[in-house]
Amino acid sequence: MESTTVTTGVILLDRIPFKPEPEAVMKAMRVRRAIAQIEDMVKEMVTQAQAIARPRVIYRVSHVQHVDESSVDIDGVRFTSRVLSKCLLNLNRAFPCICTCGREIDKWVVPANDVMRGYCLETIKTFAVGAAIQFIASHLKETYAPGQLSHMNPGEFGDWPITQQRPLFSIFGDTEKLIGVTLTDSYMMKPLKSRSGIYFANEEGFESCQFCPVKKCPGRRARYQPEKLKDYGVQETTVQA
Ligand code: SF4
Repeated sequence: MESTTVTTGVILLDRIPFKPEPEAVMKAMRVRRAIAQIEDMVKEMVTQAQAIARPRVIYRVSHVQHVDESSVDIDGVRFTSRVLSKCLLNLNRAFPCICTCGREIDKWVVPANDVMRGYCLETIKTFAVGAAIQFIASHLKETYAPGQLSHMNPGEFGDWPITQQRPLFSIFGDTEKLIGVTLTDSYMMKPLKSRSGIYFANEEGFESCQFCPVKKCPGRRARYQPEKLKDYGVQETTVQA
């Protein structure tokens, strides 16, 4: 069984396969030429990372209650976002989640003056949280057959700011105990290579990237189209710079 219910309503996924290919890590590091010394270092670190890393996810199957055009309650917790409210308008179920690379690999320290090794480690940690994100998407589809799934993460654009991490985390209770992820006063997650968000059924294929202004994002899934925010009753000026 791949999931465990750890406390009332919170489901933990902690047997997440993590087998990054050294070639893929090198590509993500943009190492253009095959330099034997770097190749060997990446291979060695990838092997070590596979032994150490324990990417994890917690999520809930949550009850959605539409409040108005700019707020929605999820398991009784109020969220403020016109886009989220509209996306969840006709749904009674959503899946809040926290995904992380895990504390084990986050504790791995490399010498501060070994820049390439440090860069490699950060890249591998990105792969680890990526494995957790891919895993939950497949798990939700297989377990709940919701049809097409979309998601939103707090802080991707101005209508759902990073401050909404706080209510999202409150849905789970003691996240440090449950999954080893904490929220700082500035709403950043520790480990940094973690992601929180809400998955929901959406047959239109909603992608939050269309409202996210981040340039040259390697993970972009949709073209930036801030003018479409008007469809959600949001003024473009509320988009983050
Ligand atoms: S463009 Fe990149 S940073 Fe922005 S929402 Fe999409 S994946 Fe996330």
